[in-house]
Amino acid sequence: MNIPQSSYPRVVIVGGGFGGIALAKKLSKKEAQVVLLDKHNYHNFQPLLYQVSTGGLEPDSIAYPIRKVLQGYPNFFFRLAQVQEVKTDTKRIKTNIGEIFYDYLVVATGSETNFFGNKGIESKGMAMKTIPQSLNLRSLILENFEQALLTDDLHERDALMNFVIVGGGPTGVELAGALAEIKKGILPKDYPDLDTRRAQINLVQGGDRILPAMSQQASEKAEKFLEELGVHVWKNIRVTDYDGKRVSTNTKTIFDAETLVWAAGVKAVGLKGLDAEEFLCRGNRLRVNEFHQIVGLEDVFAIGDVAQMETEEFPHGHPMMAQPAIQQGRNLGDNLVRLIENKPMKPFVYKDKGSMATVGRNKAVVDMPKFRFQGVFAWFVWMFVHLYFLIGFRNRVVVFINWVYNYIRFDREARLIIRPFKKQNRVERDTLMQD
Ligand SMILES: Cc1cc2nc3c(=O)[nH]c(=O)nc-3n(C[C@H](O)[C@H](O)[C@H](O)COP(=O)(O)OP(=O)(O)OC[C@H]3O[C@@H](n4cnc5c(N)ncnc54)[C@H](O)[C@@H]3O)c2cc1C
Repeated sequence: MNIPQSSYPRVVIVGGGFGGIALAKKLSKKEAQVVLLDKHNYHNFQPLLYQVSTGGLEPDSIAYPIRKVLQGYPNFFFRLAQVQEVKTDTKRIKTNIGEIFYDYLVVATGSETNFFGNKGIESKGMAMKTIPQSLNLRSLILENFEQALLTDDLHERDALMNFVIVGGGPTGVELAGALAEIKKGILPKDYPDLDTRRAQINLVQGGDRILPAMSQQASEKAEKFLEELGVHVWKNIRVTDYDGKRVSTNTKTIFDAETLVWAAGVKAVGLKGLDAEEFLCRGNRLRVNEFHQIVGLEDVFAIGDVAQMETEEFPHGHPMMAQPAIQQGRNLGDNLVRLIENKPMKPFVYKDKGSMATVGRNKAVVDMPKFRFQGVFAWFVWMFVHLYFLIGFRNRVVVFINWVYNYIRFDREARLIIRPFKKQNRVERDTLMQD
């Protein structure tokens, strides 16, 4: 890998997401050699992926080069590499560009879409976890409308304009809201010769309320906002299969839809060598102690979505969200320094700063630890928080300008089919893109 020997201990971080970057920043000026490995050369700001899928933002504005985050630190090295295996007995990692030795290893590989073994949904449904997947979805949505214009078959036309989003968490809610706004504000102008009023946006939630991780008040308000926008919210229904045209459920309800977006589950991205049963919890997460050490391995740590730290307050681990990943990365940074200096490590304590979701223009819900609010102010808070956590000054400016422009003009100008998505090639394409 062409990384020089150093008198400092080597910390290898796998994954340049929220957790990995926060950790690398903490360690960058310390007496450690930091090697960050990621299969992409950019950090992906996942909370805004739905805006890429719906033409509100260009993909470049939510991605940031990892090399730039830690430019100028002499002890920091980035390698574009897919990690294939961890060999804990020899403290080595196997990657597609060679092997590397570590003194301390941090797994921060995040999570991926969990289809719960349903091959039909996996091969015919759309996921939205990476930028290539979001671009695929953007293309498919637009291609469907182009196709709907061409067909005389009313049933086929309706199916092309019928969207089923499975999962009533923030991703599903935000995507459904954005699609509803497109239907209302953009489609009638773009397709005056198509009856776009027939387009349907269905949000299907297995439980009895959407946004189940938020307060009851936030769930109810978000549902009201969605209904105002014309989204059909289906609760207590589970999608059981999809053949690319028909969505089956555990009830008599079926949907004929050319687009199904699966936002109903994630599982941790595991690594070979750390896949023994003793390490794993529900959802493939790695069980860690309060110092982020994988239980049973002193010099291997895990943070973020991939880690499950079971505490009294969080018996199933912390939520798979950006804040726990960032806070864990920072705490582990401090702890690794302490470990190197032979000082005792500090247990991790999560500071819950609240959660939020936006449904559309002037419509958001915010749950803070001490108070809750919804509506216009919540929407401004949502925008401010997302701009604040977005990495890179240029990205913040571009996103801000886009939002102001979209707000004033009721528009989303990135509705472009740059890389056409052909449904029948879905599996091959996803494999090729190494999503
Ligand atoms: C659509 C969507 C919306 C979301 N919205 C919100 C939100 O509004 N608020 C919120 O708090 N959270 C949100 N989240 C969740 C949040 O993005 C994650 O919790 C967060 O990204 C987890 O950070 P992480 O560092 O654990 O992993 P990630 O940020 O996922 O980073 C993992 C990194 O590891 C790399 N990697 C994985 N495997 C390998 C390998 N084998 N070799 C090399 N590199 C590898 C990946 O390329 C990636 O860069 C959302 C997620 C999605 C998908």
